[in-house]
Amino acid sequence: MSENKIPYKIYLDESEIPEAWYNVRADMKNKPAPLLNPGTGKPMTAEELGAVFCDELVAQELDNDTAYIPIPEEIRNFYKMYRPAPLVRAYCLEKALGTPAKIYYKFEGNNTSGSHKLNSAIAQAYYAKKQGLKGVTTETGAGQWGTALSMACAYLGLDCKVFMVKVSYEQKPFRREVMRTYGASVTPSPSNTTNVGRKILEEFPGTTGSLGCAISEAVEVAVSNPGYRYVLGSVLNQVLLHQSVIGLEAKAALDNYGVKPDIIIGCAGGGSNLGGLISPFMGEKLRGENDYRIIAVEPASCPSFTRGTFAYDFCDTGMICPLAKMYTLGSSFIPSANHAGGLRFHGMSSTLSQLYHDGYMEATSVEQTSVFEAAEQFARIEGILPAPESSHAIRVAIDEALKCKETGEEKNILFGLTGTGYFDLVAYQKYNDGEMSDYIPTDDEIAASIAKLPKV
Ligand SMILES: *Cc1c(COP(=O)(O)O)cnc(C)c1O
Repeated sequence: MSENKIPYKIYLDESEIPEAWYNVRADMKNKPAPLLNPGTGKPMTAEELGAVFCDELVAQELDNDTAYIPIPEEIRNFYKMYRPAPLVRAYCLEKALGTPAKIYYKFEGNNTSGSHKLNSAIAQAYYAKKQGLKGVTTETGAGQWGTALSMACAYLGLDCKVFMVKVSYEQKPFRREVMRTYGASVTPSPSNTTNVGRKILEEFPGTTGSLGCAISEAVEVAVSNPGYRYVLGSVLNQVLLHQSVIGLEAKAALDNYGVKPDIIIGCAGGGSNLGGLISPFMGEKLRGENDYRIIAVEPASCPSFTRGTFAYDFCDTGMICPLAKMYTLGSSFIPSANHAGGLRFHGMSSTLSQLYHDGYMEATSVEQTSVFEAAEQFARIEGILPAPESSHAIRVAIDEALKCKETGEEKNILFGLTGTGYFDLVAYQKYNDGEMSDYIPTDDEIAASIAKLPKV
């Protein structure tokens, strides 16, 4: 088909929802480093991981070799409620920018949870149910993951206990109520319901919490309650695996029209949407079949890739989780309170960290005021109110399209629009009132948390 026939929205047929997830690790020569037991310094065994995570998910976490892992029929049926997700050709944005570039975005905000996180939530809840568990525990920051998991648990009849970073619990009451409506219990973190929460409160009275701290609490509750396991919405290999549906669908839609992206852009918090979006393209790159320019975009206030250190670190503040080798700012790093959006995790997926370290992808950081400028521009032109996280990718997609305007290059740009911003209106209000500011951590601040990295 010729390129000028490309519709505004490229919809796949229901039957084109992928039948298997693609595991990019299978094509990596340098595999991501294994999770280590913080006590022994040795790689975590399946048995050790099984105390915290569901068995099937442990198998997926440790599987560096199987390229395609079939998606169980029950999960595909759930996917059918909101997938395939549309791939949009941003004709209006192209016109407004006056760029010869062709811009495409994969929109993952078409479900009640409002983000891509549901793709992994349903998979993780499914395996917990299949194992005969009573329920799962987790943490949530801005609340998208907790909401997605609540929906998946409600669908499957599982109990869901969510520890929500206190500042979000207080500032984002609506997301909290969505979770409760789906039957989840939501506790602000740090709380005095766990040992680790009490310890953190004692050490840092008045703290507004962090993802790393909420993770510690959720893990403690999972391992101390029979019939419960802990689930995580980003960072882990298994989550990137589930999110590969984003990239597989995007690639199938582009392939249907003979389009090859030159640049692929995604925002990066823990790396799950980016890892999912790029996976089939990265697979071709790793196998030497095709080349793509891949850009991770992170906030200047939490710059794990661009200013972090590639080292083993804790995933949580309480230092009870396994160690992961990743680009990290140190597990005690807490982004400045004026940072409005998500993407506040101190580390990054170890799969993406290895790929970045090996030069297969680039990373850049952007300041939040310029992110909200891009969000406003996008909302007014393309009609969708984007999540602040997603808007990091919009920012860089617009910047790349404007570079094409200067050079006259007709590049194909693909970016991930991970979600909608209806629950982020306090941040939009700050921006609209001209009260949003940028905070970039100093080298000394980063060095202070890096100094506390565990010695491995
Ligand atoms: C959670 C979230 C992100 C960031 O998480 P990743 O694991 O890095 O993808 C990005 N966008 C939205 C809308 C989110 O909810």
